[in-house]
Amino acid sequence: MARYVDSVCKQCRREGEKLFLKGDRCFSPKCAFDKRSYPPGLHGRQAQFRRKESDYGVQLREKQKVRRLYGVFERQFRRYFAQAQRHKGLTGENMLIILESRLDNVIYRLGLASSRAQARQLISHGHFEVNDGKTNVPAYLVSAGDKIAVCESSKKKTFFKNFAKELDEARVPSWLRLDSKSLSGEVLSMPTRDQIDITLNEQLIVEYYSR
Ligand code: SF4
Repeated sequence: MARYVDSVCKQCRREGEKLFLKGDRCFSPKCAFDKRSYPPGLHGRQAQFRRKESDYGVQLREKQKVRRLYGVFERQFRRYFAQAQRHKGLTGENMLIILESRLDNVIYRLGLASSRAQARQLISHGHFEVNDGKTNVPAYLVSAGDKIAVCESSKKKTFFKNFAKELDEARVPSWLRLDSKSLSGEVLSMPTRDQIDITLNEQLIVEYYSR
């Protein structure tokens, strides 16, 4: 499985906004974007003052931003886009809904992990089950009615005991339901665009792939 091995914070600096990829650290004074909000690299500072970006550049940045936000590599992202095109409705919205329904994202949204990256790691280490069956596939796409839970054996681990104290049912999006006592959740329905709190012009991504 391919892995991103460069500095995670560089991705926020490249996209020019905080993508909140590192959990608690993103809210601390250690956040690299708060210290250096210009693009990475030798000429990063000057890049801030460069001439206006082309249409292609704007579309590319929007695509890279959402790809990095969900931690998806290009090949898989293209597959999601192709899948979104086959569904009825707006391709951009369909693509966001597919990305939101990834298991790693759902666990992050439920608050059972502090970032999508942490959710991916916990899933691949076998700490979660979907509909009572263990899974180690972060890219698993959930459906309405799916039940997600921390495995019984993992609930005893200090990590999850500490997490349980901080869970806040009120912060979970309305298309999901969290039961903080049993460290489990349910997908009530698939999300709609207005339930996905990401500032993004998905139409630019559609234009990028339609060139
Ligand atoms: Fe981005 Fe978080 Fe790193 Fe800040 S700490 S630059 S928000 S990943």
